[in-house]
Amino acid sequence: MKSPVPGYLSRVLASSSASSGGAVADYIPELAGADPDHAAIALATVDGTVYAQGDADLAFSIQSMSKPFTYALALSDRGIDGVGERVGVEPSGEAFNEISLEPDTGRPRNPMINAGAIATHGLVSASSPEERLERVVSWYSRFAGRRLDIDEQVARSELGEGHRNLAFGHLLRSFGIIDGDPVPVVEGYIRQCAVSVTVEDLALMAATLANGGVHPRSGERLLDPKLVRHVLSVMMSCGMYDAAGDWLTTVGIPSKSGVSGGIVGVLPGQVGLAVFSPRLDRHGNSVRGVTMMERLSEDMNLHLMDAARPARSAIRDVRRVEIHGEETTAYVLHGDLVFSSVESLIRRLVEDPPTTRCVVFDVDRVDEVDDVARRMAVEAARSLIDDGHELALADRNGVLGESGLPASTAD
Ligand code: GLU
Repeated sequence: MKSPVPGYLSRVLASSSASSGGAVADYIPELAGADPDHAAIALATVDGTVYAQGDADLAFSIQSMSKPFTYALALSDRGIDGVGERVGVEPSGEAFNEISLEPDTGRPRNPMINAGAIATHGLVSASSPEERLERVVSWYSRFAGRRLDIDEQVARSELGEGHRNLAFGHLLRSFGIIDGDPVPVVEGYIRQCAVSVTVEDLALMAATLANGGVHPRSGERLLDPKLVRHVLSVMMSCGMYDAAGDWLTTVGIPSKSGVSGGIVGVLPGQVGLAVFSPRLDRHGNSVRGVTMMERLSEDMNLHLMDAARPARSAIRDVRRVEIHGEETTAYVLHGDLVFSSVESLIRRLVEDPPTTRCVVFDVDRVDEVDDVARRMAVEAARSLIDDGHELALADRNGVLGESGLPASTAD
């Protein structure tokens, strides 16, 4: 059987070709030479399958799509509070290269604008600028699942014109946001932006975030789930330059764009996405890239605010069974146990309590149980025991783990 996914992606790519507006970024001389008609799309699943169409082998510089990944590394090194002392998490509503520093502290508003990204680069722990850059490049490589390298031509080209970023560096130094000489920090930031990637690399990098920080192919944990959540939140609110609010309402996928023409998007638990086409709109976002992401979000129901299906009730069935000759009420549960599904179970137990002394919770058909649901289920079980019931658990797959409840001998 043939998978319908590649055909679908190539239709998305083709349908975006009507969006021919915009212009290639030219403030970095090397980017001005990009072929405006190049376009590519890739989707990586959380189990490591990558589908790609168009100019999928074409390498381009990662530019601002590097920012969330460096932010992730700085967070791993210093923790949320350590980074938060120097870089905020508020959308600036301004262009990527605006100053956007808090008036009193000089703290950049967020790590997705240049000032914040430069400060973030400086927060990566290292004993020298070279070591810092190497840590950053190897970090991206681990997310991509292959060694990535810096495109020296792009780096040189931007270093020669990096006056504005250098100015940010000096300003940040004057506020004490950067320690030591700011010039190597800005140079390191510019070089991080020149790392060469394909849409497949970006989709896998994104899929690692979608997979809660575990690389879909190697199974290596790269980032703590709490930090993944933090990075994705900042991508959602600040990732699309000054079009972030518009992006949230229309596409609804935490994303980051770069002036080379790429957009990388993460749908938690589902997929990593990457699109590429060099012509940019006035915000600096790829025109065809935005069209492709809008279409993917719409067709595949990927808007984050859509994704939360109302949780089903946890109860699949309530049966009367006989166990060891004693009449027993069996609550057969199913699906994922989360707060709302367990709450509906508890409500049922409160409003319509079991009339038999023996009660069984059958969780053999339950897929996952989150922490709050586990705690609530255990509390509910204890309270049934306090009311004089004898309780047992049918949990062949051990989804409730060490609940402290007795296991049922019933089948
Ligand atoms: N290296 C670019 C700069 O600092 C990145 C900008 C971007 O992609 O938004 O200007």
